[in-house]
Order: sequence, then structure tokens, then C-alpha cells
Amino acid sequence: NQPSPITNTHVFKSKLPDIPLSNHLPLHTYCFQNLSQFSNRPCLIVGSASKTYTYAETYLLCRKVAAGFSKLGIGKGDVIMILLQNSAEFVFSFIAASMIGAVATTANPFYTSAEIFKQLSVSKAKLIVTQSIYVEKLREHAKIGEDFVVITVDDAPEDCLHFSVVSEGDENEVPEVEIQPDDTVALPFSSGTTGLPKGVILTHKSLTTSVAQQVDGENPNLYLTPEDVLLCVLPLFHIFSLNSVLLCALRAGSAVLLMHKFEIGSLLQFIQRYRVSVAMVVPPLVLALAKNPTVAEFDLSSIRLVLSGAAPLGKELEEALHSRVPQAVLGQGYGMTEAGPVLSMCLGFAKQAFPIKSGSCGTVVRNAELKIIDPQSRISLGYNQPGEICIRGQQIMKGYLNDEKATAETIDAEGWLHTGDVGYIDDDDEIFIVDRVKELIKFKGFQVPPAELEDLLVSHPSIIDAAVVPKKDVAAGELPVAFVVVFYKRLHKVYFVDAIPRSSAGKILRKDLRAKLESSDQTS
Ligand code: AMP
Repeated sequence: NQPSPITNTHVFKSKLPDIPLSNHLPLHTYCFQNLSQFSNRPCLIVGSASKTYTYAETYLLCRKVAAGFSKLGIGKGDVIMILLQNSAEFVFSFIAASMIGAVATTANPFYTSAEIFKQLSVSKAKLIVTQSIYVEKLREHAKIGEDFVVITVDDAPEDCLHFSVVSEGDENEVPEVEIQPDDTVALPFSSGTTGLPKGVILTHKSLTTSVAQQVDGENPNLYLTPEDVLLCVLPLFHIFSLNSVLLCALRAGSAVLLMHKFEIGSLLQFIQRYRVSVAMVVPPLVLALAKNPTVAEFDLSSIRLVLSGAAPLGKELEEALHSRVPQAVLGQGYGMTEAGPVLSMCLGFAKQAFPIKSGSCGTVVRNAELKIIDPQSRISLGYNQPGEICIRGQQIMKGYLNDEKATAETIDAEGWLHTGDVGYIDDDDEIFIVDRVKELIKFKGFQVPPAELEDLLVSHPSIIDAAVVPKKDVAAGELPVAFVVVFYKRLHKVYFVDAIPRSSAGKILRKDLRAKLESSDQTS
């Protein structure tokens, strides 16, 4: 267990005043609370299909899907896995789950079959909403129809149901369910400070609080309006995009431009065509926008805010992006799945904006407390002293699913969530992250828990022991690198390639590989 903190003398708050919270409401009610003000405005824009759903249409489809899920026997507390790229169906399924008191566990569709199955068995999902290309991965470990029901949003293979089965539900048949603020609504997976991925219990209260902290009140951190168009290219299965793009936009009445994957050409076309005004990004995307030569051919003048999160953004990259979109305010947010996820956000996006300092992750969100503790003595530290960042507030997770030990190691007896990140607060109450004391590796903003790769490595009969650590990398932020102990027939280096060169008869062209080695030796 986390020992109780010794002293809490230094507790930091937002520079903005606290706001009244409506966090007694279920998430979907809260998000659509102001629906009548913008019911005919665009809500979801599916870039690749040139299709727009208004707020009224989106809300109706969410209700239909909720009725459809219920007809399939999904009820309060049941878990639905959403294994989808960004799409309108992702949004309908997530909100529909909230409407019937069910729980959405979101998963990366690029996960291996084994990774998906771990999440399925821990979360006990009864229903999976996915795309037909991922169905084969589901068949590898289980019997569709017996172990769970699968709904596909495109073609429906024989053993699956097509999404129309739920989207054509009767909106008047959404069951009345009593939802408590402490009921779970989302179950993303995260490894947290140590070990393997765990289910992070985010309740209706956590998410309504977190969204309110960003967009509610007179002078919100993230000042969104119904005229805004938000870029939604970051995957919705990650809480940053789900919360700070989708849920914040729904609450504020802004439009969400959904892109199912990142591809620089279409990204730039969509920004220009749909006049994107707010772009939530991660550092590898900033790199593409800052350095790709085609960017200069497009009109990006509509962008007014660029919010980078999920990993540190270097000063050089920040400046390079600024020269591409000089009219835009560029700042960072700092999040962690377990924290709901937003801990802090730059105040350059507020209605009465404050100047932005390079490298700053902004100040702690409203209605929350933040402290920096000395990792050894656990004493809370004052300004300009680096230590572990801890946060407390109604937005943080309830705990890890079925894992009391990991929960107690992360949230202490006084309700402080220990992030495993090292940072300091400067004289202007701004947070700077300088290091990480936890194991986690972040590759392009995605979590790579070293424990997972170490388990995989030692499962190989020739590997005696292994340890995985991050290595800094310009494009990806961090690369996972392994140290392995092997028997005498050992490899000294491993290169990851897309394909092994082979002759037409299938023989390995070792000569080509040796030549590749020689040329890489000369360049390294
Ligand atoms: P995740 O739970 O996948 O969102 O990962 C959370 C972790 O990402 C945090 O604990 C930090 O280590 C890192 N992180 C998120 N935002 C930032 C940021 N703006 N700067 C530096 N690291 C960040």
C-alpha cells in the first residue's frame, strides 16, 4: 500500500476559480444537456465518406443503438468491447452503452489476437463491435456466438451481426435504467506505473468531471464553441481522444471530424475542406505537420488551437510547427488514463487566455488538487523542486478492475493518485514534466508496458532473462529496447524489417542482407 503522505503543505490549484459541477448526471445526459441549442448543427463528420450527422441525428442514432443493444440482452453493468478505428459507429456505440448503463471497454484494433483476448477475458465483454477485417483475430481464441456476440460495422461474416441490427432499433425502447455517478461507464486499459495492462474504472462522475474541468464555466481551459471543428485523428480507443476531443466537443456543441487513420495527404485535405479550427495532436503528428513538405500546399489558416498531449513535445518541434500555422495558439495538455485523464492544460486556450511558456503542460485543471512529492521522503515540495506528480479530484479513476493491490499502490489512503511522472511547478503555477519514475514506455504516444515485452521474450526457450527499457528517438519519442540473456548461440543485434528478401524459389537472399549490414555499419 501507498504509505500515507507525511505532509501536504504544498498543494497547487488552478489559476482559474473552481466551477459548479453537474457530475451527478449520467455521462450521455451531461454531454447532450445543451442539445436543443445546436440540434441542427454538424456533430460528426466522416471525412472519408463525406457524410455529416447533425447533433439531432447523432443523438437519435445513439438512442436507436442503445435500444438495439438492449434487445440483444445487454443491460446495466454489462461490458461491450469497442474494437474500431475512428468512425461514427464508435461514437454511437460508446454513447449507447452509457444510455443503458453498460460499460464500454475500448481496444486498439491493431492489437494481436492474444492482446485482445486478455482484455476480453479480464473485462468479461459480452458483445464486441468491430470491423470485418478484425474478426479473424477474434476467431483465433474463441467461438463467436458462444463466447460473445460480434457486431461488424461493414460486411457481416456468417457468424456476426451487422450493425444495422442495432442501429435500426426503436428509439422509444431504450430501457429506463437508474445510473449512479459511481457506476462504471468506460474501461480503458493501461499499465499504470508498473506491470501489465489493467482495466481502468472510469465512472460517469469521473468523465463528467473531467469534461467539465476542460470546457464548462465562464472561462474554461479549453474554450470550444459550436462553430469549432475538431480534428479527430487520434484513436478514440485512447482516452485522450475519447475525452478531450469527442466528449468535450459533444458538451460544447462543436463538430468532430472523424478520420479512421492517419495519412498526411488526406489529413491536410480534410483540414482545408472542413475548416478544422482545433487540432488535438501527439508529438509524432506535430512532426509530420511541421516537417512534411506537402503541408505548404494546403490552406491551414482555419486552425486556431493546437493541443499536443500524451508525450513530451520538444521546443524545436513546437517552433517548427508554429512557423507552419503562425495564427494558431500551440500548447500542451498532460494526461494519464487513470487520472480521467486530464491533469493539466495550458491556459492559452481559455477565453481570457494567458501567455504560453514553451515546454509547459499548463496548470492543473479546476476543481482538482495537485502536489509534487519527494519520492523517498514523500514530503510535498514547493515551487521549482522536481518530484513525483500526484493529483486528487473527482475525475480520477475509481480503481483498477479486480486489482486491489495495484489500486492501493496507485491511489493512497488520502485519495491522491500517484502518476509516476516527475515534474516541477514554476513560479507561475505551470507544470513542467522532466522525467518518469514508472516503467512505462511511450512509443508515438502509445503505451508499451515493458513487462509485456519481457514476458514475451522470456517465453522463448533460448532466452534466460530479459529487460526492456526506453531509448529516446526523434520520430517516436521513445523506442523499446531489450537486453536479453541467452545461451551461447546468441544474437548480438536484431534488425526489424518489413520483409525478408527471398528468391523466387523462396530461398533467403543472405547476400542482400549482408550487404545491408555492411552499408548500415558504414552509416552508423
Ligand atoms: P496514457 O495513460 O496512455 O495517457 O499515458 C500517460 C503518460 O503519458 C503520463 O503518465 C506521462 O508519462 C505521459 N504524458 C502524457 N502527456 C504528457 C505530456 N504533455 N508531456 C510529457 N509526458 C506526457
